[in-house]
Amino acid sequence: MSDAIPDHEAIVVGAGFGGMGAAIELKRQGIHDIVILEREDDLGGTWHVNHYPGLAVDIASVTYSYSFEPNPRWSRLFAPGGELKAYAQHVAGKYDLVRHMRFNVVVERAEWREDAGFWTVHTGDGSCLTTRYLLTATGFLSQPYTPDFPGIDTFAGQIIHTTSWPDGHDFAGQRVAVIGTGATAVQVIPEIAKLARHLTVFQRTPIWVVPKVDFAIPGVVQRLFASIPFTQKIARAINTSLLEMLMVFGVLHYRQARPGNQLAALLSKAHLRAQVRDRTTRKKLTPPYDFGCKRPTFSNQYFRVFNNSDVDLQTSSIVRVEPDGIVAADGTEVKIDTLVLATGFNLWDVNFPAFQITGRDGRDLGKWWRTGRFQAYEGITIPKFPNFLSLNSPYSYSGLSYFTTIEGQMRHMARLFGEMRIRGAERFEVTEQANEDFLNRVTTRLDDSVFYAGDCSRSRSYYFNQHGEATLLRPQSTLSTLREMDSFPVDDYRYA
Ligand SMILES: Cc1cc2nc3c(=O)[nH]c(=O)nc-3n(C[C@H](O)[C@H](O)[C@H](O)COP(=O)(O)OP(=O)(O)OC[C@H]3O[C@@H](n4cnc5c(N)ncnc54)[C@H](O)[C@@H]3O)c2cc1C
Repeated sequence: MSDAIPDHEAIVVGAGFGGMGAAIELKRQGIHDIVILEREDDLGGTWHVNHYPGLAVDIASVTYSYSFEPNPRWSRLFAPGGELKAYAQHVAGKYDLVRHMRFNVVVERAEWREDAGFWTVHTGDGSCLTTRYLLTATGFLSQPYTPDFPGIDTFAGQIIHTTSWPDGHDFAGQRVAVIGTGATAVQVIPEIAKLARHLTVFQRTPIWVVPKVDFAIPGVVQRLFASIPFTQKIARAINTSLLEMLMVFGVLHYRQARPGNQLAALLSKAHLRAQVRDRTTRKKLTPPYDFGCKRPTFSNQYFRVFNNSDVDLQTSSIVRVEPDGIVAADGTEVKIDTLVLATGFNLWDVNFPAFQITGRDGRDLGKWWRTGRFQAYEGITIPKFPNFLSLNSPYSYSGLSYFTTIEGQMRHMARLFGEMRIRGAERFEVTEQANEDFLNRVTTRLDDSVFYAGDCSRSRSYYFNQHGEATLLRPQSTLSTLREMDSFPVDDYRYA
């Protein structure tokens, strides 16, 4: 081992719930010399960047939070986005994370230095830092996607991507177009419809929407959760089990439990029927792919919007954008003042990883994933990338709530760093064999999922990568994932 000493023990890239969870776990493992690099000007990741009207969680808040840091004060069953940002700030304060964070720092690339036994991390201002351990928590839905429609640069009005919302933007009296009908659009469209003079929604792929059972949490319940935390644990367990059933039976075991999946689709269709009067509009809003191919969403307001005479649903594709509007393939010309892009995120081309990472023997992670197969042992480590934990990896997303993913990864870190302490090691690297076995196991299991056993061909879902493979979700129940994170064979790693 080299005598060279890195600047820091650990660098975490990203100050969202992933990066914060990783930093909390590093501290639990006795690693305190940590720097968290974040390109934004504040912490919270998704919940700092997104602040469009209508933003809320789509997983009930008792579940969408760290299990070790329950928040008894959620105002609603599905908390609004601002409360998630406040919760992130609370966690950062309580676990003493803020002093580790450096904002407005874009990480551009990182290289493993075999001679020194550590990582060099290059940032946008031309400087570099060295670190023994590198952890990336750069998010799944963090690289906004803006389609390159012909003529978009000529548009004379305002263009708003949902990830860079101008707070207080007034739609009153405006003609607005929203492009996209994914989960974000489902939240923002009803809010714009309330204000705009006319709204046109451009839909390429309809989304499965199920009713949202949401309500304000009464003060008495909040006080109960605060004074007897066990009661909130029970609420969490019940909600998590329901989500788990939806995920395991509706999505992962589609082949064995197809009626469960069909029942969910029927519920969504009944919801659509109850909310939209016009038959042709209902038909346009009905997804032509199986439930679960794309992350389904919850709303009681979205479908209703399309009954409004001031709202049009346009399903003909966009040919070009002009200075004062949009021209569709069927010849329709829609005149607009503001264009809202609810066009989501690019996961597989510019993310995974979010910047260039070069491991041992010059292996470039992005190139290796794209030209070979997307893969990561237990969704977190990669052969030839010593002392590197990639929290947003292929096959890492477990369950429906992101917190099951990060907490599983924290358990993996605990076992790995615990083993290193026992061995007096400072370096770990997963073996090629362990990685290959894991990849074979998950890809075999995925054969039973809706992604391969169902019909997802017209879903255009971010669960699928550019090669048409469903490489995002881990095809296991969260319980078995957590068990595996606690008990993977320690010899799946080499230590030094
Ligand atoms: C609108 C919206 C709603 C969502 N709702 C839910 C929900 O209800 N339930 C659910 O389970 N999930 C939801 N998600 C997914 C959500 O992203 C995750 O739940 C969770 O917040 C991910 O945390 P993270 O820390 O992994 O990533 P993020 O929160 O995306 O944080 C990643 C951070 O890394 C930073 N970063 C990226 N690249 C670099 C770089 N090169 N240099 C420096 N910093 C960098 C980013 O600026 C960002 O702050 C939602 C996502 C969006 C966009």
